[in-house]
Amino acid sequence: MASSRDDVMELDSFRKGVDHWLDEQEDALAPDHPGLGTLDQQMAQLAKVKRLGYEAGWVRWGWPERVGGLGGSPILRAYLGEALTARDVVEPGVYSMTEVLAPTMIGFARPELAASLVPRLLRGDETWCQGFSEPGTGSNLASLTCRATRTDDGWRVSGQKVWTSYAQYAARCVLLTRTGSQESAHRGITALFIDMDSPGITVRPLQTMHGVDEFSEVFYDDVAVPFERTLGEVDKGWSVAMDLLPYERSTSLWHKGAYLHRKLEHLLAAVPAGALSPAEVGEVVQILYAFRARSRATQYRMAAGDPLGPETSVDKVLVATAEQAVFDLAAAGLAGEVVLGDDGASRRWRSEFLYSRAATIYGGSAEIQRNIIARRILDLGDDR
Ligand SMILES: Cc1cc2nc3c(=O)[nH]c(=O)nc-3n(C[C@H](O)[C@H](O)[C@H](O)COP(=O)(O)OP(=O)(O)OC[C@H]3O[C@@H](n4cnc5c(N)ncnc54)[C@H](O)[C@@H]3O)c2cc1C
Repeated sequence: MASSRDDVMELDSFRKGVDHWLDEQEDALAPDHPGLGTLDQQMAQLAKVKRLGYEAGWVRWGWPERVGGLGGSPILRAYLGEALTARDVVEPGVYSMTEVLAPTMIGFARPELAASLVPRLLRGDETWCQGFSEPGTGSNLASLTCRATRTDDGWRVSGQKVWTSYAQYAARCVLLTRTGSQESAHRGITALFIDMDSPGITVRPLQTMHGVDEFSEVFYDDVAVPFERTLGEVDKGWSVAMDLLPYERSTSLWHKGAYLHRKLEHLLAAVPAGALSPAEVGEVVQILYAFRARSRATQYRMAAGDPLGPETSVDKVLVATAEQAVFDLAAAGLAGEVVLGDDGASRRWRSEFLYSRAATIYGGSAEIQRNIIARRILDLGDDR
């Protein structure tokens, strides 16, 4: 992943250091549970790995010093996540929340707030969640209705969110609220950073079809939020959301890609000889490399300080296609395990196959990404 002379040096030494640390700490970093583990176990594992990585310094590289980081290029974060997910030390979904939410806090929270709270996220003391989707508002985010009303003492928030990943574990939430009129659509939205233990918040976990309480519906009943917790400007939360979403489609997708390469290796080691044709495997390898090439360019654009925008929808379409291609191949090569698997490694294949169906939904559905590509990159039709 090197493009310039400086990056070559910096990334090379970082890579060596991380790889050495991972080798040396292999036992300490290994999950305590066999196989996929429960979500509770995955969250505990994530907290452990972040704490050890923070203490050793590796987790702090690539983040600004004012939020507990050690500076350096975000490319370093791309490599760390690649190494952790490719070695099955952390699961890429739970690991992704840091990459999605910390940049938003750094960009939009008051500097003192970011300085006091981001280190807790990096160190694994806390998990955060993202409260965007509502029962009537997923793709059409601009029509959200969860309302924040201004009072003398701060905001009062009432409404409902849904599909909030890991909300039952989260200490805080980046929440999109309606502060203007409903008709004002994306102009009347304000982003808030709320404490999940505030009175008036009820979290009800929802189970996915792969049997995990991965996300929740979250009810906000007259929840008090101080004005200092406003992210960005009042009524300008749309720009916070537009800034956050490309992060959801950059570094964390690189990590996911590394994980998928690893899954393909596991799959090829597990399938009986002759169960898959070279052409079937070759096609999936090609899809994986198409994503990797695209995402690599995105990592370097981000490292160069270029703003990320609608073009990251291409990355999202490619990684979702790659994820489903890898697990479709697993279904072809390990049909019994994907159809019936209910324990050990079999359960993992079945569970991950089912979860891969969500890849074209979360983070904005594939249809919506294609609309963005058509309208905002190719200039085909209205930008709605
Ligand atoms: C595993 C998982 C985790 C998630 N985590 C979070 C989270 O942490 N926080 C959060 O806020 N949300 C989260 N979500 C919600 C996710 O962002 C939404 O599900 C997604 O944006 C789609 O919205 P929706 O479910 O309301 O579907 P809808 O918007 O109702 O869409 C239904 C179908 O219609 C299609 N469609 C809708 N509008 C158009 C259009 N204009 N053109 C063409 N097709 C269209 C969609 O592509 C989809 O196929 C998560 C979802 C999943 C599956």
